Amino acid sequence: MINVFQPDLGQAELAAIAETFASNWVGYGPRSARFEAEFAAHVGVPAESMIFLNSATSGLFLAVDLLGPGPGDEVVVPSQGFVANANAVLAGGARPVFCDVDPRTLNPTVSDVERVLGPRTKAVMLLHYGGAPGDVVAIADLCRRRGIPLIEDAACAPVSTVDGRRVGSFGDLAVWSFDSRKIITTGDGGMLYVRDPDLARRANRLAYHGLQDRSSFTTAAKGARRWWDLHLDEPGRRLIGNDMTAAIGSVQLARLPGFVRRRRQIAQAYDDLLHDVGGLRLPAPLPAGHTTSHYFYAVQMPEPVRDAVAEELLGQHIYTTFRYAPLHRVPIFGGADLPGTDEAARTTLLLPAHQSLSDAEVRRVAEALRTAVERRLVPARAG
Ligand SMILES: *Cc1c(COP(=O)(O)O)cnc(C)c1O
Repeated sequence: MINVFQPDLGQAELAAIAETFASNWVGYGPRSARFEAEFAAHVGVPAESMIFLNSATSGLFLAVDLLGPGPGDEVVVPSQGFVANANAVLAGGARPVFCDVDPRTLNPTVSDVERVLGPRTKAVMLLHYGGAPGDVVAIADLCRRRGIPLIEDAACAPVSTVDGRRVGSFGDLAVWSFDSRKIITTGDGGMLYVRDPDLARRANRLAYHGLQDRSSFTTAAKGARRWWDLHLDEPGRRLIGNDMTAAIGSVQLARLPGFVRRRRQIAQAYDDLLHDVGGLRLPAPLPAGHTTSHYFYAVQMPEPVRDAVAEELLGQHIYTTFRYAPLHRVPIFGGADLPGTDEAARTTLLLPAHQSLSDAEVRRVAEALRTAVERRLVPARAG
């Protein structure tokens, strides 16, 4: 079976786990703090602004909670987003208001976002589809002018940049995911970035029960009398990561440039192998100054062909998929009229693009796709 996503773990990750075992410190501790500092340096933001959590979803829920929406408040979310984007808004007591996307890039344009802003807009949540930065610069600018906080979901975009600046650092809050299907994985895990230092301290408290001081994780509570007393201003949850997963994360982060180099090669190979397949649209080229993390390789074709091609490839043990089933079609999230999102959902298919694919596997996927597409599209066009 050729998977569409899969983890890339090896001896170095295993050694990092063994070292953590030997230290007998498996909860949040020095390895978690080190991973936060390394990831912050990678993004180009202060270490204190980065919090290692048990998932990106926890980060999205916490981000919404930090902004404190009230009943009737709205958070703008692309319908072409992950279910946790809308769940976090709804669970936080606000209403998700869905914006449309460009059907070619599956990212919203600044006018898609601007169209749905209103007097009750409490925040904008922006996803970087498949790692492509999208219109983040203009959207961040729009949010700043209107005084609306921007939450970036950079789950798929660990290395993406615009003019050398990392995606995730344009807004006020951001998350990255280390789920088992992402480019780098810790099994489960995520990072939350909080730009404002006071808000970052509050996020740290809310990520661990609301307790004021997490230093007891890394050092003994020196000097404090009755260090077991509780100091709590508001209730929190239990969302933090641990040193087992952080140890894996440090190794994966060091390997990330190599992972993305391989993914870029695979995308280039698909471009070369598939550019002349009639009726097939390859990923739109990125704007100047943008780089992607190459998480998705998304091709497009007419709807009935897309579904039949996916089934035919599955029969040949090649797994393809589509992300993300539109959120505005989910009844509990409420409806909207979003033609770009609907078109993208009808036509888009993601090919296997993970870094462990061999050149032969990439060729096999491309050949199978060409055969399946041309059988359905080329005679119809000729005749
Ligand atoms: C995977 C993903 C998430 C969720 O990440 P978890 O770490 O599994 O919670 C959120 N947003 C997007 C866009 C994702 O692809």
